[in-house]
This record gives sequence, C-alpha cells and structure tokens, in this order.
Amino acid sequence: MFSVLRDLGWFFRREKRRYAVGMILLIVAGVLELLPPRLLGNAIDEIVSGSITTGSLLTYVGLILALLLLIYWITYIWMHSLFGGSNLVERLLRSRFMNRLMTMTPAFFERNRTGDLMARATNDIRAVSTTVGFGMLTLVDSTMYFTVVLMAMGFLVSWKLTLAAVLPLPLIAIAMIYYGKAIHDRYSLAQDAFGDMNDQVLESVSGVRVIRAYVQERLDEKRFADITEDVYRKNMAVAKVDSFFEPTIRFCVGLSYIIALTYGIYLVFRNQITLGDLVSFNMYLGMIVWPMFAIGELINIMQRGGASLERIDETLNTKPDVEDVPHPTAVTEPKRIELKDVTFRYPTSTVDNLSGVSLMLEKGQTLGVVGRTGSGKSTLLKQLLHEYPTGRGEILISGVRIEQIALEQLHSWMGYVPQEQILFSKSVRENIQFGYAGADDERIMAAITAAAFQNDLGTLSDGLDTLVGERGVSLSGGQKQRVSISRAFIANPEILILDDALSAVDARTEAQIIENIRRERSGKTTLISTHRLSAIEHADHIVVLEDGRITERGTHQELLAQNGWYREQFDRQQVENNLTNE
Ligand code: ATP
Ligand code: MG
Repeated sequence: MFSVLRDLGWFFRREKRRYAVGMILLIVAGVLELLPPRLLGNAIDEIVSGSITTGSLLTYVGLILALLLLIYWITYIWMHSLFGGSNLVERLLRSRFMNRLMTMTPAFFERNRTGDLMARATNDIRAVSTTVGFGMLTLVDSTMYFTVVLMAMGFLVSWKLTLAAVLPLPLIAIAMIYYGKAIHDRYSLAQDAFGDMNDQVLESVSGVRVIRAYVQERLDEKRFADITEDVYRKNMAVAKVDSFFEPTIRFCVGLSYIIALTYGIYLVFRNQITLGDLVSFNMYLGMIVWPMFAIGELINIMQRGGASLERIDETLNTKPDVEDVPHPTAVTEPKRIELKDVTFRYPTSTVDNLSGVSLMLEKGQTLGVVGRTGSGKSTLLKQLLHEYPTGRGEILISGVRIEQIALEQLHSWMGYVPQEQILFSKSVRENIQFGYAGADDERIMAAITAAAFQNDLGTLSDGLDTLVGERGVSLSGGQKQRVSISRAFIANPEILILDDALSAVDARTEAQIIENIRRERSGKTTLISTHRLSAIEHADHIVVLEDGRITERGTHQELLAQNGWYREQFDRQQVENNLTNE
C-alpha cells in the first residue's frame, strides 16, 4: 500500500532536510495543540472547587493565547515545507518525463498514443504530487499525531477511558484495507480511460477539417459521447468506493463518542476522574477525529498516487529501442556512406520493407531515390537517421557501423526534411533557427533564398516574425515545405536528406531550388527522394526501388538507356511537362 513512498524514495532522500523539518514541526504543533484542552480542564476543576482567582484565570487565558500564536507560526512553516515539496516533485517528474520522451524513437510513439502520454504528464503527475504533499500530511497525522493524542488522553486523563474509546478503531482499519484495494484498481482503470479520451479529443481537434468535409460530425460526437460516458462510469466507480470512506469513519467516531461519554460519566460518578478530566477528554476526542479521517484519506491518496506512479514509471522505465553503445567510435567527419546488403523491417511490419539494399556514396555525392509510392524510399533514407534498430546487413559511415556512432554525433551531421513537415507554433524566424540556434537574419535570409521562399516571405504580414504553425497563419503545402528546407539548409549540414521535400512546389520553383542545392552543396553529401525525376537528373547515383529492392541503378543517362521503369516514367513526365507548357 505504501509502495508509492518507497518508489519515491529518491525524492525523499534528496529533500530529506525539508521533510525532516516539516514533519518535526508538524508533530511539535500537534503536541502544542494538546495543551489548551488540558489548561481548560484544569481551569474548570478550579472553578468547581472554588479556588479560582482573577490572577490564575488571566494566566490561563494568556497561556492559551500565546500557544495559539506559536502554533500559527509553526503551522505556516510545516505547510510551506510539505506542500513546497509536492510542487517540486511535480516539476522534477515532469521534466524527467519529457526528457524520456525526447530519447524515444518513433517506434515508441507508434505504440503509445499521444493523448495517453499527455494524461500521464498532467493528471498522473498531479496525483503523485498530491501524494507527496497531502499524502505525507495524512501519513504523519494518522500515525504520529494520532499516537501523541492517544498518549495525552492516557497520561493526562485516563488510560481506561482511552482504551475504551479506541475500541472501534480496528473496524476502520479493516474497512480501509478493503476499500484501498478497490480504489487502486478502479482508479487505474479510470486513468486509462482518461488517457483514451484525451487521445480522442486530440484526434478530433486535429482532424476537424476532415471530419467536417465528410460530414462526420454526428458520428464523431457519438464516439466522443461514448468515450466520455466510459470515463464517467469509471470515475463513478471510484467515487462509489470513495463515498464509503467518510460514513465509515463517521460511524466509528460516533461509536467512540458514545463509549467515551457513557463510560466517562460512569467514571466521574465513581470519582475515578474529575469533571475537568471528562471535558479535556472530550476535547481530545474531538482532536482525534481528524487523524481517524486521515487514515482513510491516507489510504485513498496512497492508492491513487501509487496507481499513477505506476503509469508514469511505465513510461520512464521504457528503454529506448535505439541507444548509444557504451563506447561509441569517434568519427570526426562523415565521408563515405555505404549500405551493404541491408534488410530492414519496421517493428510493426510483417514483411521486409527493405531487402538486400547495397549502395555506396562518396562524400560530396548526390543520391537520387525514386520508385512508386510505398516502394521504400522514405524507409531507405531514414536508415541513416538510425531511428529504428538496424536490420540485417551493415550501414557504414566513414567505414564505421552506424550502431557504433553516438546518436548525437550522427544527428549533428544531418539536415533532414521529412516527407510530412512539422512547423512549430512560432515565428518563421524561430522555425528556421531551429536548424541553427541563434542564426542572425542575414544567415536566415540566405537559407530562405536558397529554398526559394523569399518572394512568399514578402506576402506574409509580418515577414520573418509572422506566426505560423497551429496557432498562426496557415501556410500552403509548398510554403511549408520551403520553410522546412530553409531549416535544413541553414546549418549547412554534412548530409542533407530531402524526403520528397519538393512534392508541393511547381516545376519552376523546383528547378530553382535544385539549382541552388547543386551550387551550395558542392562537396557535401545530399540524398533526395522524389516522384518527379527532374529533381534528381543531376544526381551521381540514382536507385529505383520496388517493394524495398533496388531494381535499377545508375546515372540519369545510364538509366534512360536501360529502358526500364525509369525510362518509362521519364517519358511520361516529359509528355506531361510539354502539355502543361503549351
Ligand atoms: P511514398 O512515395 O508514398 O512516400 P515511400 O516509397 O516513401 O512511399 P515508405 O514510406 O518507405 O514508402 O514505405 C515503405 C513500406 O513500409 C510501405 O509498405 C509502408 O506501409 C511501410 N511502412 C512505412 N512506415 C512504416 C512504419 N512506421 N511502420 C510500419 N510500416 C511502415
Ligand atoms: Mg515516402
């Protein structure tokens, strides 16, 4: 039940001073709170016996006031320590979580849905933070404070009466263990459902245009209604157990009061305790009500925190499926790139997505990759990013196997324009600076000119400062592609990978960009995949893929002479070009 505290051991050890101070003061405050009732009891006994004087009455009042002030300050400090800790653990866990996500490869995001990951990063981390704050408070109150009050009742009033009053306690313990387990299970289910719902919201919002275009709003609403219903039902299941906590505790507390009062009065009549004792005792009984509730709260919070921490740890403990080897080989500069008989299959695929691919690219050369859609062009280019565990065969850069090269080193060489470009909700400038932190405007403009985006930039309302991405101006497909290309250009990477990156621009713009690439990238390696052969005519090597195999290879001229798929495709595109030109 308290495994969550053990699993958070690293945090408590790190913050041991804070928790030591917090808990000690919490106890001190608890002990001090015991004094006013006893003082009051003594005062009553003095009144009953008629020995009270103005002086002693004033002393009682003064003492009680002073105690209250002291308790005020101590409470402030322990609250600050305990709840400060809960904010801290939230921040720590969240940044760990994010760092973890950053080391994950695409395969991880294919297995885990974004909405659920978001639920973990928000809701679950919140629950753990509550455990660390409020949970620790209830832990101290329900154990140590509880014991202190019991001691006071026993030593300052009567042990007999105390034991009688706590008789209903075991009832609470049994009920809590039973409810605690139910809370854990139901709460886990509810959090999972919440993750699903998050995912659904995300998909509906990002797909809203398609949903509207296909008039699927009703269906989408229905799906959403179903899933919220599911979340509702699962949370109600939690609430049902939750609602048992309070009545159970109230019932037991009520029993305690009945026992204490009847037995207490009996003891007063037998002259075993005084009337003042009974008043003090009743006040202590009032003070013990909260620790009893705290037991219930404690179990509830620990179970929730535990269930949430399990979900967070599941993500935190996922090992990335591509990791650096313990001692990577240092490669200062990528020279020759070589693929030897590479066969590769995506983790979720049932067939090989690349089979027996061999090719060699000297530094400074350009590779063109063509083939019909789904033939494996993107898959081939992505091999150099080492995003997935490598398949059979060898991928060598400067003669070193790619597995031996540190990922950070590897990626520092690459400028990658993926087939689906991502623009962040930031200005055009920041989006391009992403490729080269702190690049000045001159450098940015050079990259923009190379990507033939300068004319479009003029039409944007705030130029480089125009917000794009989800929250800003919607750029056209071709404009997005060119911002992405600028981003890759600006770092002047050793290896530039353009995955169908010109598919949405017209032929003239494409020719312009290709011209710039040829000029600016002489001496640097470039890999281009495309459907339009005009984009790779100049390449040193061209490979044609079909079902993950290389079926034709050579230069543009050689391929034309082979009279195969390339020739056929080239002729067809020639005809289309002539038609559009006329
Ligand atoms: P296009 O011209 O449409 O971009 P492509 O030649 O780039 O196509 P790839 O994206 O490399 O084709 O896909 C090759 C094959 O691998 C396809 O059959 C595809 O279904 C499969 N595939 C691609 N990505 C994944 C993935 N992440 N998981 C599993 N299979 C994948
Ligand atoms: Mg592709």
